[in-house]
Amino acid sequence: TPPARSADGSFPEGALVAVLTAQPLDRLLDYKAPEGGCVPGSYVEVPLGPRTVIGVVWGPGRGDYDYARTRAVGRVLDLPPMPEEMRDFLERAGAYTLTPMHAMLRLATRAPGLGEDAGTVRLLVPGGPEPARMTDARRKVMDALGEFDGQPVTRAELSAAAGVTSSVIKGLLDAGTLAEVERPRDPPYAPLDPDRPGVELTEAQEHAAIDLRAKVRGGGYGTTLLKGVTGSGKTEVYLEAVAECLRRGRQALVLLPEIALTSEFVARVERRFGAKPAEWHSGVTGTERRRCFRRVAEGQARLVVGARSALFLPYADLGLVVVDEEHDPSYKQEDGVLYNARDMAVLRASHARAQVILASATPSLETWVNAKEGRYDRLVLGSRFGAGELPMMRAVDLRRERLEPSRWIGPTLAEAMRERLDRGEQSLVFLNRRGYAPVQVCRACGHQIGCHQCDARMVEHRFRKLLMCHQCGETRPMPAECPECGVEGKLAPVGPGVERMAEEVAERFPEARVAILSSDLYGSARQLKAEIEEIAKGAADIVIGTQLVAKGHNFPLLTLVGVIDADLGLQGSDLRAAERTFALMRQVAGRAGRMGAGGVALLQSAQPEHPVIKAILAGAEEDFWAAEAAERRAIGVPPYGRMAGIVVSSPEMHEAYGLAEEMARRDEPLRRAGAELWGPAAAPIALVRGRHRVRLLVKADRGVPIQAAVADWLSQFRWPATTRVSVDVDPQSF
Ligand code: ADP
Ligand code: ZN
Repeated sequence: TPPARSADGSFPEGALVAVLTAQPLDRLLDYKAPEGGCVPGSYVEVPLGPRTVIGVVWGPGRGDYDYARTRAVGRVLDLPPMPEEMRDFLERAGAYTLTPMHAMLRLATRAPGLGEDAGTVRLLVPGGPEPARMTDARRKVMDALGEFDGQPVTRAELSAAAGVTSSVIKGLLDAGTLAEVERPRDPPYAPLDPDRPGVELTEAQEHAAIDLRAKVRGGGYGTTLLKGVTGSGKTEVYLEAVAECLRRGRQALVLLPEIALTSEFVARVERRFGAKPAEWHSGVTGTERRRCFRRVAEGQARLVVGARSALFLPYADLGLVVVDEEHDPSYKQEDGVLYNARDMAVLRASHARAQVILASATPSLETWVNAKEGRYDRLVLGSRFGAGELPMMRAVDLRRERLEPSRWIGPTLAEAMRERLDRGEQSLVFLNRRGYAPVQVCRACGHQIGCHQCDARMVEHRFRKLLMCHQCGETRPMPAECPECGVEGKLAPVGPGVERMAEEVAERFPEARVAILSSDLYGSARQLKAEIEEIAKGAADIVIGTQLVAKGHNFPLLTLVGVIDADLGLQGSDLRAAERTFALMRQVAGRAGRMGAGGVALLQSAQPEHPVIKAILAGAEEDFWAAEAAERRAIGVPPYGRMAGIVVSSPEMHEAYGLAEEMARRDEPLRRAGAELWGPAAAPIALVRGRHRVRLLVKADRGVPIQAAVADWLSQFRWPATTRVSVDVDPQSF
């Protein structure tokens, strides 16, 4: 029989432990604790079939398997155990999003090389004099070493950079030309100093900062909406809360919606606290992720700046989470585990007894309602720092503008741009559409080129000389003849994308310096950042941009924003369309006149009487949200009701519909729980990568435990291997 668990909760050698791994199994596996024992939360290596995988000790084993034949944990990794609070959080988050625990653990262990020991690594540095015998290969190594500027490098890095075998390097080591130094793996982060002076806060900022500092000092959970137009100084305020958190010796996390924003933010942290924060996002190397993971677990990394997934790092003592631009749709992950980072931040913080700050100029309706109903506190920064309010906003009625064929800038906007150009000021032309033209039509037969695998049309990207599906990413060369009727030279672009706008701008204003900001035109976040900095300094007269420009960049010389098609986001039946358009238009308008230059935003619209457009122009945000909220309440949708979207997909349309219909017929467990089922209907994206997608929507009152009802209902079905079923609690579109 196995030894019992110790009184302190740890497991002595041989005791049975249940281990959670990231392998797709529907249960925990029993193992014997290794020599030296382990504790709940220990990161371990365990044998699984012929492989060795990483897992976490989740609790005592069940012992329903022959003890003698139970395998032992391979070893305990050299990392602090995952805190109980974090394990609870993963369970709650998994239950909330109806995600199996193995998938939750995968999210929580996404650093490569976790199994490697901390230890030290050996690095190469220039040693003594050049060797007596200098071969070509040796010369290459010396040149490559020069490229590293005297920084220590690993053997592998150096031999790769020089393009020589490692025996050449060994020869240079023996000759004393190269020397080896030892450096700890995962070096600690430089300490941040919260007491360096920040900017002198305005009265409104100081008021908000005092409140937030007190909350952080209090040490418990709470969520605060920090609202203020772009440029009102929200970042300065939440950095004060971060400073207080650092003073308390606790850890802080700042989530940003866009990687391109990180470097600007990192520089700001460095100016404020004298050192860089840890970074966690897809642009960070594997080595750096590993370092971040370890140092966060040890509590040494005190401030992390990152993307959504940074919520799943094993903080030793998390005291504050900031979600900047909390309304941003990119916080909802749309593949893999479906979660909204804003909601997960609140859940995570409530387990960690941490404070949450949701910063936004245009909060999501969910957050607005939560603040209104007192679940969240609310702090408002009235006017922007050192400037007036938002720029003057005006609609330009497209029905009255005479637009030339294949032209999208009307006379009113063109004239305003001309004035800016003459005065040496910047204009921004905003169109939320990447590429050159959204559609290619054959003028001989009327055929529109579509994606082979999706029901989307192929978008022409002229700079990159190809057609691309924005749904699945498929690309193909632009054909010379129509794929349908075979006639040559008749394919024509229809409608504008940013690249086409650049063409129009260049033709109208040949003397202007034009820049395009669109995510697909930059190889890396670094290049994009460099471009943004140049523009901010005045390197362009006219900037053409997609929603990328709406996210918090500073363009102090900008005094005009022209929105090409303000109606674009209002098409379709998505209930969130109004909210999103409202937020986006205000964000874009916020780029103009940030530093008090008195900007103007012109919104070209074919329906300026539309309530959303009117609300944007009037700037009556409280009224807008109240009206939106009332509408949602009337039909019982989030945040007044609860929803889950279930998407059934299959390569065969009839199979997907057949299954969805069967699921709809057998909805007894849902009805018993008080939930309703809508559908089946084609999913908002009905065909992706060759899979037909059919959606069912479950809707219930706020009091109904919708996850339990959905899990209960779904447990009745066994699906064929060709079908996939995904569950999305709180879907973005409904
Ligand atoms: P937001 O986060 O609301 O967009 P920021 O905090 O980024 O606003 O502030 C906008 C700009 O104004 C930044 O360049 C910031 O450094 C500056 N700023 C904000 N508050 C102050 C202040 N009290 N004194 C001086 N500069 C400030
Ligand atoms: Zn496609």
